[in-house]
Amino acid sequence: MGCGTTRVREGSGVVMGTSGSMRLYGAEEADIETLWSLVRTLENKTLSRRVEGSEVWKVNQAPVNTTIELSEKLTDYLQVGEEVSEKSEGTFDLSLGNLITLWNIDAQVGEEQPVLPTQEEIEKNLEQVGMKYVSLEGTKLVKQESVCLDLGAVGKGIALDEIKVYLEQRKGIQGAIVSLGGSVLTYGNKPDATAYKVAIVNPQNTGETIGFLSLTGSHFVSTSGGYERYIELNNKRYHHILDPRTGYPSDSDVLSVTIVSDSGYLSDALSTACFVLGKEKGLKLAGEYQAQILFVMKDGSIEMSSDMEPLFTAK
Ligand code: AMP
Ligand code: MG
Repeated sequence: MGCGTTRVREGSGVVMGTSGSMRLYGAEEADIETLWSLVRTLENKTLSRRVEGSEVWKVNQAPVNTTIELSEKLTDYLQVGEEVSEKSEGTFDLSLGNLITLWNIDAQVGEEQPVLPTQEEIEKNLEQVGMKYVSLEGTKLVKQESVCLDLGAVGKGIALDEIKVYLEQRKGIQGAIVSLGGSVLTYGNKPDATAYKVAIVNPQNTGETIGFLSLTGSHFVSTSGGYERYIELNNKRYHHILDPRTGYPSDSDVLSVTIVSDSGYLSDALSTACFVLGKEKGLKLAGEYQAQILFVMKDGSIEMSSDMEPLFTAK
């Protein structure tokens, strides 16, 4: 394969409720298991809304108007989340947990299966949504309403940020590509010095791709699309990305959004935010964060920022 003596290690598994895979150049077998357990620890100790005892779970359980001491990590995630929320006109919101529970679109096996919520239920739950009800001073958090945090929109990106930090410390590893659901990290270089190729799914036919991105060096790519998770009720599809302005699955002019950024968190946050915002405002928001953006529009056409063009090859 022209890899000389470089050791290639590969692994796949289910983490964060999605399928993950990794290919590491110059790694030891043990690196794979270390990385998966890093992701599981992040989910179980910090991010999960479902795992009892995680930090997010504790915040969600805490009574209104009591002070909760957060880790610096979670404080950072919430601060950046607040900023993206402000810049996205509130379409991105990490406090949507009650509404997400109501819709229950990512119901797990063994849980109650989803039913269509009533308008009244949606409005009632929307009353407990908004980062304005979450005040953060340093690492101290106080909830003013029974808001429920859900960091599902950024979990995979955060995990990829942590994976990159690990890879940087392991000097022997010169390249890697790691994917967690719709989020991908490319790291360093392949031994044959060719670009990493990251395929973009065709949202209208998920067995196909619309093309791929060619990336050299370290980047984060994240795609958000209504095709990733949805339920069908009365012959209508309801997908997993909600519009906090209406309480319903978002209904903009796009079928999917792909972001390239040098931050895993931002690539993940922005793909979700820009999916809700749609093309025009999404382009603007991605630009504010120096991120490249590509949209598959509802009519099947492909639109992108000018700085995405050199990276994309259409099928
Ligand atoms: P992603 O697949 O990265 O776009 O994230 C989707 C997940 O983020 C959903 O499954 C919810 O957990 C959560 N979510 C849904 N809508 C929003 C929103 N408007 N802002 C922030 N998080 C959301
Ligand atoms: Mg996301």
